Amino acid sequence: MAGVENPSKGTLSYDGVALDEMTSAQKKAYQLEVQMIFQDPFASLNPRLRVEQIVGEAPVAHGIIKRSQRAEYVGNLLNKVGLDAQYMSRYPHQFSGGQRQRIGIARALALKPKLIVCDEATSALDVSIQAQVLNLFMELRKELDLTYVFISHDLGAVEHISDRIAIMYLGQVVEIGTTEEIFNNPRHPYTKALLEEAPRLDKRGQDFQPITGEIPSPLNPPSGCTFHPRCQFAKDICKADIPALRLGNADRLTSCHLEHMPQTEDQLVSA
Ligand code: SF4
Repeated sequence: MAGVENPSKGTLSYDGVALDEMTSAQKKAYQLEVQMIFQDPFASLNPRLRVEQIVGEAPVAHGIIKRSQRAEYVGNLLNKVGLDAQYMSRYPHQFSGGQRQRIGIARALALKPKLIVCDEATSALDVSIQAQVLNLFMELRKELDLTYVFISHDLGAVEHISDRIAIMYLGQVVEIGTTEEIFNNPRHPYTKALLEEAPRLDKRGQDFQPITGEIPSPLNPPSGCTFHPRCQFAKDICKADIPALRLGNADRLTSCHLEHMPQTEDQLVSA
């Protein structure tokens, strides 16, 4: 999505145009408008550069600002992410994890993006700092009209920040729905198991029932539905046929054979 790796198959489109059909002007716009915030704020900042260079080099290189405007531009961006403009003369090792992630966010914003891929962007942070950074994400989205692709294992953060959720298992999307649909009425057995096992205060003292079995290797995935060795609802068809991601029961996009079969009256009542 962010152009870091070339797609191994399928088509990648941005703004309705496939990447390999873009003119060079469209490709440049795509490269600037889609930015990324990385998981590890310690490894993703160059330790030899000062913050002014880290945040300000790309907008100078791409002609968004002149070199003489860099300090002022970086100072404004640092203020936007809640850092003092004076910090621009410091090196990454002089900051905490939360501050470094704010620098990573300022670097992504410096190219005036429309879409930011946030790859586990809060998981390396202390819980109290996670909340601050999540709030910052939400404020910036409103102020700058941004779209995020927020990749996370933290269901609480996902529920807090997302409008639409795609659940993945072993590298494949298994269910897509709005946040309300996914959290109030999950359809795919993997989504149901995930939500049931999320630690919550109202489940204090109760035993967890983890999904049984090991996660298979994505290099040698099981036949049919890749979730079948761990799914309590698996049927013969699940071992043989790969379920396509398509609209199923409850008008939900899922890749599960059960969701694509007509439901009995009892099932409809319990759903
Ligand atoms: Fe379970 Fe079968 Fe649905 Fe896969 S297709 S999630 S094995 S019921």
